[in-house]
Amino acid sequence: MTEPRLTVALTFDHDAISDGVRRGDSPVKLSHAEFGPRVGVPRILDVLAREGIESTWFVPGHSLVTFPDNTAAILAGGHELAAHGWYHEDFSELSRDEARDVLARSRDALATAAGAAPSGFRAPYWALAPGTLALVEEAGFGYDSSLMAGDVRPYRVRHGDRHSVVDGTTWGAEGTLIEVPVYWALDDWPHFEPGPGRSGLATPSAVLEIWTEELRWAWEHEPGGLVTLTMHPECIGRAHRMVVLERFIAAARSLDGVEFARLDRALEARGLLSR
Ligand SMILES: [Zn+2]
Repeated sequence: MTEPRLTVALTFDHDAISDGVRRGDSPVKLSHAEFGPRVGVPRILDVLAREGIESTWFVPGHSLVTFPDNTAAILAGGHELAAHGWYHEDFSELSRDEARDVLARSRDALATAAGAAPSGFRAPYWALAPGTLALVEEAGFGYDSSLMAGDVRPYRVRHGDRHSVVDGTTWGAEGTLIEVPVYWALDDWPHFEPGPGRSGLATPSAVLEIWTEELRWAWEHEPGGLVTLTMHPECIGRAHRMVVLERFIAAARSLDGVEFARLDRALEARGLLSR
């Protein structure tokens, strides 16, 4: 098989109502999140099936067990299940024991659902404590997708970096965990959903332009690269945003040698992950 010029990984964070349950959100906020499992997930899976695309789903344990029809449909579509906390916890606020417990419980539930241990983890809110990724590696995960020190080249995570305003920075050692970098501009949420300090509700064409220019740059200048998008069913699943997803897929299809792949398979093909 010839090497693809560029790989595109479509990734979906299936948060649903997991964090709303943990925070005790109001019925309206919970319903905003419930749009994901009710409408967004089936819509997205239909498009992916039509296009013959396999993708990666970061699924909190609560979403996994609360929406079993979604879980079954994701698995039936040949997609990858990866970990994303249980109640979409903020790992920067958890003790080490709490973090260990959430990682183990979510890993085991995903393994039971999928019939194989998950390879991937993405921190909810992309929020980590300094030692969290060492615990992720210890829990047996092969890759993380929460950091930003790169774009299209996965890299090895360092553990134990020490930063001091007196003594400067001492870098830790690389472990086995691979990082698949993320970035806000390549995430649907900051563009489209209101939040602290931003109105959200971006014009879809503006987001499509950012995503396709990232794609084109990588295709021209970063052969062998891996472009990763982060999306949320309750966000991208809205009709005018599904158009962005469809057009982005069409833009990728219009370039020679672009393949779509699940993150685990993209990393296996690069010799960065073994099972
Ligand atoms: Zn999330």
